[in-house]
Amino acid sequence: MARIFSGIQPSGELHLGNWLGAVQNWVNLQQSYDCLFCVVDLHAITGQYEHESLAQRTRDMAIGLLACGVDPSRAVLFVQSHVPAHSELQWLLNSITPLGELERMTQFKDKAQRFESVPVGLLNYPVLMAADILLYRAELVPVGEDQTQHLELAREVARRWNSEFGGGSDFFPEPRPILTEAKRIMGLDGQAKMSKSLGNTIGLLDSPEEIWRKLRPAVTDPARVTRKDPGNPEICNIYYLHKYFSPSETVLRVADHCRGAKWGCLDCKRELADNMIRTLAPIRERALALQHQPGRVEEILGDGAATARRLAAETMRTVRERMGFLTSAD
Ligand code: SF4
Repeated sequence: MARIFSGIQPSGELHLGNWLGAVQNWVNLQQSYDCLFCVVDLHAITGQYEHESLAQRTRDMAIGLLACGVDPSRAVLFVQSHVPAHSELQWLLNSITPLGELERMTQFKDKAQRFESVPVGLLNYPVLMAADILLYRAELVPVGEDQTQHLELAREVARRWNSEFGGGSDFFPEPRPILTEAKRIMGLDGQAKMSKSLGNTIGLLDSPEEIWRKLRPAVTDPARVTRKDPGNPEICNIYYLHKYFSPSETVLRVADHCRGAKWGCLDCKRELADNMIRTLAPIRERALALQHQPGRVEEILGDGAATARRLAAETMRTVRERMGFLTSAD
């Protein structure tokens, strides 16, 4: 069974964009692949961050993933910093990663502009990502469009390591992207991808009242100034969200009512809110139950980290040996 590694940042609560864009996919992949799913807290400190809430956000993210259906009996779910070999392998891979390639990364160039003094961690982020994948010798990685350049770097790093230290073998497989339906979920502002930092999200665990409070003012087709103005559903994010939460006959009716000015945008949003609330209710219930079982969540993450550490130790033994380090007596 091919192995998959995938990580998600501990932004706290999952939102619709994470769920539709990544986590639903994880839940499907765990049926057919050997999956390692990781809350990547080491990646979360590469910019300014709130250290007071990091542990809570990490726990909440794990709860969200479990509530969405990540199944610890099928996949290994763990927290990145609980497996110190991620940092060790990153350091070793730093030694074979050219500075120029890191400086060329689009995400680095974008994010570096936000800093007066750019932290080295921001530059080295893709090396840590390569270490995450190679540590488990994963063959496949589900990646979003914004991560393809980083995956290409991981492939390059694997090639370099194999050629310098592989002794004629490809110890590290070159990780390939796993092709799944790309879902880019726009935020409620209709302007940018749904993202917690932009405040344009609906949380998966939001209450029915919160969902409605956020959906009500969401941006729609600006041509619909009054109920009598016909609209174009194809340029409206609410219509796209209906496609994920409403039955197909409702989606057809939404398009027809929009084009024919047969209802107002608030009616359209109310129907979306009702379907969304109904779809998300079981996830919310599972998350609330897990929040009352902190011992169970700790146990799952502890078991996941133990399995990940065992797999990582096997890789690191070979890596240290091939790179010429003196073998430790213990
Ligand atoms: S009627 Fe619905 S699909 Fe049409 S613009 Fe309003 S919210 Fe969007």
